[in-house]
Amino acid sequence: MVEDLLIKNGLVVTADDKGTIYENGYIRATDGKITEIGSNEPRGSADATIDASGCVVIPGLITAHTHLYGILLRGASLNIKPPTDFAQVLQRVWWPVDSALTVGDAYASALSASADMLRNGSTLYADTYSGPNSIEGSLEAIAKGTREVGMRGIVAFEMTERNNPEEAQRGLQEGINFVNSIENDELIYGMMSLHASFTVGDEIVKKVVEEAKNLDIPITVHTSEGLVDLYHNLEASGERTVERLDRLGVLGKKTVLAHCVHVNNHEMDLIAKSGSSVAHNPMSNMLNAVGVSPVPSMLERKITVGLGNDGWIYDPFENMRCALTIHRLASGNPSVIGSEEIFKMATLDGARCYGLEKKVGSLEKNKFADIVILDGTKVPTPLTKESVIGHLLNTFSGGNVRDVFVGGKCVVQNKQLTSVPDEQIAKISRDAAKGLWSRLN
Ligand SMILES: [Zn+2]
Repeated sequence: MVEDLLIKNGLVVTADDKGTIYENGYIRATDGKITEIGSNEPRGSADATIDASGCVVIPGLITAHTHLYGILLRGASLNIKPPTDFAQVLQRVWWPVDSALTVGDAYASALSASADMLRNGSTLYADTYSGPNSIEGSLEAIAKGTREVGMRGIVAFEMTERNNPEEAQRGLQEGINFVNSIENDELIYGMMSLHASFTVGDEIVKKVVEEAKNLDIPITVHTSEGLVDLYHNLEASGERTVERLDRLGVLGKKTVLAHCVHVNNHEMDLIAKSGSSVAHNPMSNMLNAVGVSPVPSMLERKITVGLGNDGWIYDPFENMRCALTIHRLASGNPSVIGSEEIFKMATLDGARCYGLEKKVGSLEKNKFADIVILDGTKVPTPLTKESVIGHLLNTFSGGNVRDVFVGGKCVVQNKQLTSVPDEQIAKISRDAAKGLWSRLN
């Protein structure tokens, strides 16, 4: 690693809580952490100096919910009866895919999806892996693929009892073993994951909550993504999904509820009161036709909302744009949500979801030097302190990402990965996808 890195002459958007932006800004990083940030010419030299003239410098964007193995399904034509609701999407697409996954697929998809996210400006993901026939060793395989390209990842095995209770027990053990194996890892963090309220019984939920507390790690669960979850809970216990999770002790400051599409005011009050966060996945919600999550109402309640891709479209700029537009369309109010709020979801609030806000999510002194440099030379209107947030939502895309640093290490240089050749990753990923597709059809 370059010990001392200096990025200068850029328009630096720190994404800190004050919204600080430096014109003609610079960042110095030493041993992977930011030591200086400000405007104008920095004093002294560095081991490596990057000229960011004409560029926008932002913190690495945070993907608050994903499924890395989703990348292996790109372009696949599955021989299935087309699903007409979300329950059928799970039953006909995802659950057969989950069952067909191997530990090799976990590795290949982590490598490929991490590469894709890095190239598009995301430096941290929160993944949950689901593979009933590839439980043991899956998390280390994912960590390996992620480390090889130099990304940060929060890794978890998604527990479910939909096939049998032993599956969830083995998933829990895999999670515990993995978390114990990665102590002090610089790139990889652990998490507990429950698939969804409607696929797990009370006992395993309580057990997972207890283990997450013991290990002091976050816990995540798909929450009323589709109506199937809500209806199942109402029928089984007379409770709405968040009410059941609350009764079982799932809610809390280290809990991230993914989706929350079908939640009512009472459920949002419970989420707010408990300090739980929400990972919003607008593009996936549209793809699966599950509905629109009431994010503006969550923000009114000061619920922390991060932005995820749910395993589809790893370009965080596309997800930000969709988050900006979907709530305007749904509410009929073009001012219901703004660019600053969305950018916050993709940065500092994404970090807050997982309790990592002191380490990543903004460009501030003592935080990891997770930095993205966007080429702004072709932006068609003035690129200034006042306009840059608007440009981040309206102009830029992952294709404008020029360089990416994780912990001060350059992992993408001039759009190319620095650690593994892009062609090599594509080959590993395609071979895995070919095998998976043939097992599915
Ligand atoms: Zn998901």
